[in-house]
Amino acid sequence: MSADQFTGWVGLDAKSVEGNLVKTTFTPKTWTEDDIDIKISHCGVCASDLHTLRSGWGPSDYPVVVGHEIIGTVTRKGANVKHLELGDRVGVGAQSYSCLKDDCYECSHDNEPYCSERVFTYDSKFADGSTSYGGYALEGRYPASFAFKIPETLSSEVAAPMLCGGITVYSPLKRYGAKPGATVGIVGIGGLGHFGILYARALGADKVYAISRSKAKENDVKALGGDGILASKEENWTQGWTRKFDLIVSTANNADLPILDYLSLLKPGGKFVQVGLPEEPIPHFPFGPLIQNNVSLIGSLLGSRSEITEMLNLSAEKSVKSWVEPRPLDDVNQVILDMEAGKARYRYVLYN
Ligand code: NDP
Ligand code: ZN
Repeated sequence: MSADQFTGWVGLDAKSVEGNLVKTTFTPKTWTEDDIDIKISHCGVCASDLHTLRSGWGPSDYPVVVGHEIIGTVTRKGANVKHLELGDRVGVGAQSYSCLKDDCYECSHDNEPYCSERVFTYDSKFADGSTSYGGYALEGRYPASFAFKIPETLSSEVAAPMLCGGITVYSPLKRYGAKPGATVGIVGIGGLGHFGILYARALGADKVYAISRSKAKENDVKALGGDGILASKEENWTQGWTRKFDLIVSTANNADLPILDYLSLLKPGGKFVQVGLPEEPIPHFPFGPLIQNNVSLIGSLLGSRSEITEMLNLSAEKSVKSWVEPRPLDDVNQVILDMEAGKARYRYVLYN
């Protein structure tokens, strides 16, 4: 039997990030009875898609189909799939496999992103050697264990970017203390960062501030529920703000992070969690300020399956609404250029 063929917008080389995706067919992962096929209706555009198209984190394995904020309906399901039915509306995020074995410490402790067998939704390999392909496509095939039913009250365009952008900030906010009594800062108000404001608020933090480069997004930050904005490109910008924050989550993806300035904003015992992943190393910095102020520097990847479900339910319950700009999938090449230019407010969502 010949392999199935799906249709999508494929990146053939690093120049694809310049708006050169090609609409063509690709061979999805080899079917197993643990999988589902979906007809994709929506897919958010994450900065990770651009990093990957550009080979910015190291060589990508072209051809690639990026996109990991996917919503679609189930059109085929494997015999082992119990929790989904044909026609269900599901979401797939940036991870589409982990071993889920009882003897895997990570999988049995709500830490699937750190499973040593994890497979990302695109530009990754499954154990059988087949390649993972993302959501800039008309159809997709994914292990059902990483497909999540979407609560009815969340529209597909609102839900799509939660599956990567949302969970990547929700998880560290929840784990590291965005709750009543806490003052939280979010560095970089883009796709992830705008969710940072929304979820820090939804989790009940007392004060939520944006830490942006300028004050250009101030009105948006207030409309998202933030208390104010600090502008890191202004002179003496930390004045009056040192030791005020319990938790800072940074989504910035530039290498010239003013890391010591950010750390100076933390109270002793405070935590700085970096989720943005620059392509270049950040500059050297001394350990002194960490030690003298007892602050922690933490990295965080995506979120667990239970956190994804919890985030979707909380979003439905509290009517958390992603700020999205829907764009037709056929315009994807222009959308990538607009994303690269920083024009998204705050997430482009491709639709079929
Ligand atoms: P966006 O482009 O939507 O937002 C990034 C924000 O960072 C911008 O809005 C801007 O905020 C700030 N920024 C951009 N360029 C610079 C610069 N040169 N100097 C300082 N700040 C800058 O990207 P996303 O939110 O989609 O993704 C952010 C990062 O998170 C990416 O690196 C992505 O790959 C990574 N990521 C990590 C995940 C994880 O699991 N850890 C999962 C998903 C994504 P402002 O204008 O407010 O300064
Ligand atoms: Zn992403």
